Amino acid sequence: MKKTLNAVTNHLEDVLLSIIVPVFNESAMLPIFLERVIPILKTLPLRTELIFIDDGSTDTSAEYLRQALDKYPGQKLIKLSRNFGKEAAITAGLEHAGGDAVVIMDADLQDPPEYIPIMVNTWLSGTDVVLMQRRSRAGESPFKRMSAHLFYRLLNRISQTEIPVDTGDYRLMSRRSVDALLTLKERNRYMKGLFAWVGMPTKVIRYDRAPRAAGKTKWSYCGLFGLALEGLTSFSVSPLRWAVGVGLISALTGALFGIWVVAKTVFIGDATAGYPSLIAIITFLGGIQLFSIGLVGEYVGKAYLEAKQRPVYLTEEIFESQPGYTYLEIKRKG
Ligand code: UDP
Ligand code: MG
Repeated sequence: MKKTLNAVTNHLEDVLLSIIVPVFNESAMLPIFLERVIPILKTLPLRTELIFIDDGSTDTSAEYLRQALDKYPGQKLIKLSRNFGKEAAITAGLEHAGGDAVVIMDADLQDPPEYIPIMVNTWLSGTDVVLMQRRSRAGESPFKRMSAHLFYRLLNRISQTEIPVDTGDYRLMSRRSVDALLTLKERNRYMKGLFAWVGMPTKVIRYDRAPRAAGKTKWSYCGLFGLALEGLTSFSVSPLRWAVGVGLISALTGALFGIWVVAKTVFIGDATAGYPSLIAIITFLGGIQLFSIGLVGEYVGKAYLEAKQRPVYLTEEIFESQPGYTYLEIKRKG
C-alpha cells in the first residue's frame, strides 16, 4: 500500500482516499450528509471509501447507513459494541482505513466537505498533513467560543508538543502519518495532542466552521470540561509542578507569618486575636491541598487506566457495501 508521492501523482486512479466519519445518534444528519458529500467525492480524480464508525448509536443511524450505503459499493460501516466516545471512534476508523490518505470529518457537516478537493490537492502537492484551522465558529455560543479560545492557549503554554490552536479533528493525513499515529498505543486518546505529537510536514488551510446542519451537539459543558482536563493532563506534567510551586509558596508564607506572630507576642506582648484571619488561611490552604491532591489523583488515575491495557474500543460488526448485496459482513470480533 505504501507508495511514493511520485507514484501517487502518476496514477491517481489507483490512489485511495479514506474518509472517516464518527457517528453517534446522527439519524437526522446522515441523509443530508450523504447527499452533500457523495457528489463532492465523485468529482475527485481518485478512488474514495467512506468509513462510518457507529459509536454505539441508540437511534437508527446504523440501520440507515446499512441501507443507504447499498447504493454506493465499497463503503464501510464499523459498529462499535457501545459508545466509546469520538476519540475512540476515530481511532477505530484510522485502524480500518486502507487509504493512501485519510480525511477525518464530523457527520454534522460542521466541517464543510467542499474543502476535501482542496485538501487532496494540497496533499498531492507534497505534504503529509493538511490541517483545517477554524477562522470562525458559527452557531456556537459566545461562552463556548471563549472557553475554547482560552483552553487552546492554556494547553499550548503548558504542553511540550505544540498543539495548533483552533483546529479540530478535520484534517487529511498521509498513510505514513496515520501509521505513525497508530503506533501510539495509549488508552487516553486526546486526538489533537496525539496528532500534534506525530508532527510531519503540515500545511494549514483556514476555513469558516459551519453551524451543525441538524440534530444537536453531543457535548455537554461537563463533557467538554472532562476533555479539557484530559488534554491538559495527557500532554504535560507541569500542573503537578504548579501544585509543588503553590504548596512551597504557601508553606513559606505560613512560616514567615508564624515567625512574625511569635516575635510580636515576645517583644511587643500583644496577645493574638485574629480568629477570622485564621479561618481564611485554613480554608485557603485546605483548598490548595485538595486541588493538588485531585491533580495528583488525575495522573494516578491515568496511570491506572493505562496499566489495565484494555483495548480502546471493541467492534461489534464490520460491514462493507458490495454491489448486489444489502451488506456483506466481513469480520466479526469482540
Ligand atoms: N461523536 C461520536 N461519539 C460521541 C460523540 C460524538 O462519534 O460520543 C461524533 C458525532 O456523531 C459527530 C462528531 O463526533 O460526528 C462531533 O460531535 P458533535 O457535533 O456533537 O461535537 P461538536 O461539533 O459540538 O464539538
Ligand atoms: Mg458538531
